[in-house]
Amino acid sequence: MMESADPTPAQRPFPLAGQGVGRAAAWRQNRDLWRDLAGLPTTRVVLVRDGEIAWNRDPIHPALAMVTPQAVVAALGEVGPDLAWFLGATGDAWDPATRAPAQAPMRGENAAVFAIDISGRDPLLAAALVGAAAVVRSDISRETTAQLAGIDADLFANLRAIGDGLDATDTALGVTAVALANWHSREGYCVGCGASTRIAEWGWIRICARCERLAYPRTDPAMIVTVTDSSDRILLAHASAWPPARYSLLAGFVEPGESAEQAVIREVFEETGIAVGTVRYAASQPWPFPSSLMLAFTAEHIRGGIRVDGEEITDARWFSREELEAALETGAVELPAASSIARVLINQWRAAGD
Ligand SMILES: [Zn+2]
Repeated sequence: MMESADPTPAQRPFPLAGQGVGRAAAWRQNRDLWRDLAGLPTTRVVLVRDGEIAWNRDPIHPALAMVTPQAVVAALGEVGPDLAWFLGATGDAWDPATRAPAQAPMRGENAAVFAIDISGRDPLLAAALVGAAAVVRSDISRETTAQLAGIDADLFANLRAIGDGLDATDTALGVTAVALANWHSREGYCVGCGASTRIAEWGWIRICARCERLAYPRTDPAMIVTVTDSSDRILLAHASAWPPARYSLLAGFVEPGESAEQAVIREVFEETGIAVGTVRYAASQPWPFPSSLMLAFTAEHIRGGIRVDGEEITDARWFSREELEAALETGAVELPAASSIARVLINQWRAAGD
């Protein structure tokens, strides 16, 4: 069953667009996949809780804190396709005859990786799983409990906060794990008949217990656009839901029956009253909060002055590079997080002026 893993993309255009993990989708058919892979020395498990990912708690060099299959079995017992989701495999030298990869470091060659969602389980279990509970004793003092709670609070991090610092492999694993976790958390019941569903194919399908309807992980296309005018100024907007000084690019979901390019034109007009043309696709990245695929475009101002709705969008402005740098200097404008596609696109525009 061990044919080589999928080829991986050559480019990583945006922070959450990882690479280096073959999805090996055919392996999901193997009901004994955990048993076949858990004994290999390089197999690892990514931990997810409440949409966040276990990490090494190193803000300078963040990495996923993966655990061994043995640690998972010790903490949770037997593992089946309803508990562990198969994320894929790194490396390209899987031996179909022996199924034995070379001895390798955790993120080196031939590591098979699963994910497990421990939402709702004992917080001390999470701490134990990632090796942070060495101080746990039967006579836990109040101080120790507080200390553990403090440790536990940052065992898991939001990918929006650490995603831009992860390497490409950890990014691919983390984003896939969080995307699956967010999907499973909303798909407990069949949309056809309302009965409960069970997980199959190591996390990649849910099957209705009554009508056997199949549900697959969904990804919702959304677009984001760098709009510039004839003076190469950039259009940035402030949404009422954001922190006060936050300005960013316009974005929105693609509606049924609409192309992504049409969504760009519609959203920019709806939110700012500006007509744009010359819509060009740039790149994409997954944005699993909870289930978007962000498609990035550039577009040029054709006509119209800025007119915001005052409710969803409360301000929009054209910025020259000098004006934006000055506003960032004073704090009048703050840009979105470095892991966001918006920040990368804005920075690309800023750098293009150098
Ligand atoms: Zn059903």
